[in-house]
Amino acid sequence: MPKILIIDDEPHILMMVKKMLERAGYDVNLASNGNEGLKQFRKSPPDLVITDIIMPEREGLETIREMKLLRSNLKIIAMSGGGKISADNYLETAKIFGAAIVIEKPFTQKQLLSSVVELIGSVEDSV
Ligand SMILES: [Mg+2]
Repeated sequence: MPKILIIDDEPHILMMVKKMLERAGYDVNLASNGNEGLKQFRKSPPDLVITDIIMPEREGLETIREMKLLRSNLKIIAMSGGGKISADNYLETAKIFGAAIVIEKPFTQKQLLSSVVELIGSVEDSV
């Protein structure tokens, strides 16, 4: 079963995305910041990482860079609603750091799911 690690400091986003991806058949792990995400990443290597950008402890851009150093072919989706600077800037940088797909918040569940399928295929494909 494809394994997905979701990193976001907003609990309702973690829960919403987890529910949606589990319903689609994926195995899901959660982390609430980049440090926790890296711990999970080492403990239970995922097929795909979905990460927020603006988070306490360790933010997303640094997390993306770190994970790409650990595994250069890792598939990553970055999502951001922006902050002091616009989401566009963060997401452009996320791409440079190695995110395969970037999504601006708020996004629809359908939009995120189709990005996941594009990168790692649907669960039906893998069984
Ligand atoms: Mg955030």
